Amino acid sequence: MDFAVLPVTRYKMNCSILWCEQTLRAAVIDPGGDLDEILNFCELMDLTPELALVTHGHFDHAGGAARFAAQTGARIEGPHRGDAHLLARLGDLGAQYGVPAQSFTPARWLDHGDSVHFGDVTLSVLHCPGHCRGHVAYFHEGRRQAFVGDILFRGTIGAWEHADGDLATLIDTIRNRLFALGDDVAFVPGHGPESRFGEERRSNPFVGDAAYARWQARLALQTGSSA
Ligand SMILES: [Zn+2]
Ligand SMILES: [Zn+2]
Repeated sequence: MDFAVLPVTRYKMNCSILWCEQTLRAAVIDPGGDLDEILNFCELMDLTPELALVTHGHFDHAGGAARFAAQTGARIEGPHRGDAHLLARLGDLGAQYGVPAQSFTPARWLDHGDSVHFGDVTLSVLHCPGHCRGHVAYFHEGRRQAFVGDILFRGTIGAWEHADGDLATLIDTIRNRLFALGDDVAFVPGHGPESRFGEERRSNPFVGDAAYARWQARLALQTGSSA
């Protein structure tokens, strides 16, 4: 498996194009928009897009998936069913924010522990709520590479203050699902530069080891004082 990252839409959302080096069949994670760029890259590399994988229902990530599937014949898998209400409102929300977006229902909703396949490649699926309810991340074991959408970024974490977000869930997801994959695992976030889980564990001011120790102490204090 190899991959490339193209920042798309005016939100500079990281669209990842993954391909099987044996078959040149490809999966596109979050075809959020600027489909011409995605398709041009596939043509340049002689890739056949087979699968669109969606991390979550926000329009910068999911807004172009329906059109991408219609243009290429790729099937759409993900996110988790918890984002169904977001996918249903993609058209409205995209219009509000000036990004062309279309609603869709994926060919397959994903659950924690599922795998997805394209060419000879398998990725595992992690359900990662906290930024929104149906967020999933994708992991390639052989390359030790994760694609985490808007859960975790280099030096910061995903937004939780909107209706479907929850800070405690987000921290739990990052610490116990993502970091649990191993310090050596590299990740592509939904926006901005790539990093490794070990680097974030050391230095991320929101979820690094030092911040997490303070967070746990605060939770213990709250539990203690309400008892
Ligand atoms: Zn998002
Ligand atoms: Zn985003």
